[in-house]
Amino acid sequence: KPLVFSGMQPSGDLHLGNYLGALVNWVRMQETHDCIYCVVDMHAITVWQDPAALKKAIREVTAAYIAAGIDPKRSILFNQSQVHEHAELAWVFNCVARMGWMSRMTQFKEKAGKDRENVSLGLFAYPSLMAADILVYRATHVPVGEDQKQHLELTRDIAIKFNNDFGPRIAELGLGDGFFPVTEPVIMGPATRVMSLRDGTKKMSKSDPSDYSRINLTDDADTISQKIRKARTDPEPLPSEEKGLEGRAEADNLVGIFAALSNRSKADVLAEFGGGQFSGFKAALADVAVAKLAPITGEMQRLLADPAEIDRILAEGSARARAIAAPVMASVKDILGFVRS
Ligand code: ATP
Ligand code: MG
Repeated sequence: KPLVFSGMQPSGDLHLGNYLGALVNWVRMQETHDCIYCVVDMHAITVWQDPAALKKAIREVTAAYIAAGIDPKRSILFNQSQVHEHAELAWVFNCVARMGWMSRMTQFKEKAGKDRENVSLGLFAYPSLMAADILVYRATHVPVGEDQKQHLELTRDIAIKFNNDFGPRIAELGLGDGFFPVTEPVIMGPATRVMSLRDGTKKMSKSDPSDYSRINLTDDADTISQKIRKARTDPEPLPSEEKGLEGRAEADNLVGIFAALSNRSKADVLAEFGGGQFSGFKAALADVAVAKLAPITGEMQRLLADPAEIDRILAEGSARARAIAAPVMASVKDILGFVRS
C-alpha cells in the first residue's frame, strides 16, 4: 500500500522554497495517500541550535504545516525526537551505508564548506537518519524539493543493500522478499528548486545567513515587498519569451516564483510582463506573494497563540507514528539477530 513520508527541519523559518517545493505537494497528496509529515528536529541539531529557539521553531514549523493545509486528523503530524525508532534504525543504517556513498553527498560538501574537520559527525551521517525516517514506516513515496534527490537515491541504495545483505534471513522469518521498499522520490510541481533572492545560483535556504535571500512564511506584507524590491536582477528588461530567460538566473527565478504562486505558466507571465522593467513586475510579484502568504501567516499566528494545543497535536501524532514504527524496528532486530525479550 502506498505510504507518503516527508519532513522539514526546524532550523529556522520556513520559506517560499519549502512551501512551493514541498508543502503544496504534501497538502495535495493527502487526497490520494496515507501521509506522515514530520518536524525533523534531530536533523536540525546537526548544526548548532539554541535550545529555546529550537523549541520555538518546532512549534512554528508545526503551525506552518497546519496553516498550509496539513490536517493532523487525517495525516500523522509529529516531531521526530518523540519516536526513538528513527534514531535506532539510523544506527543500523550507519552500519549498512558505506563511507564512500556518504562522501559523495553534495549537501554535506556544501554545508561543511572548507572546515571539514570541525563539523559534527551528525552532519556527515544526516542521510542515514533521513533513510531511517522514511524506511521505519516502509514509506513508498517521498515528496521533496529537487535538492533532496541525491539523499533519496542513497535511501534506495540503503534499502537495496539491507534487503540483499539479509535476504536469506528475511525469507527465513517470512518477512517477504524485500523487507524495505525501494522508495520513489516525488519531485514535482511548479517550483521544485526556488533560488535565493540574492544569488540566482544558490537555492533559497533557511540556513542562509541573509534574511534578504528568502521570503519567510512569517514575513509581513511590508517585509515581503521590501525583499522583492531588493531582490537581485540584471539591467535588461524582462524577455517576452521563456527562452529569453536562459543565462539570466535571477530573472528566471522571479518569473518562476510568480508563475508558481499564481498557477500560471512562465510563458503566460512573460506574455504579460515581457519588455517591461523589473520595477513594475516586482510590485505585481509582491502583491501575488502577499495575497498567497497572508492567510497562511494569519492562521499560523492564531495557532501559535496556543502552544499547548500544538504540543498536544505532536504528542498524538507521535503515538500514531510509533504504532507503525515499533513493529518495523522489532522486525529489524529479529533480522539482525539481536536478542530481544
Ligand atoms: P536548511 O538550510 O536548514 O537545510 P532548507 O531550507 O534546505 O533548510 P529543509 O528543512 O532542509 O529546508 O528542507 C525541507 C523541504 O523543503 C525539503 O523537501 C527540501 O527539498 C525543500 N526545499 C528546501 N529548499 C528548497 C528550495 N529552495 N526550493 C524548493 N524546495 C526546497
Ligand atoms: Mg536543507
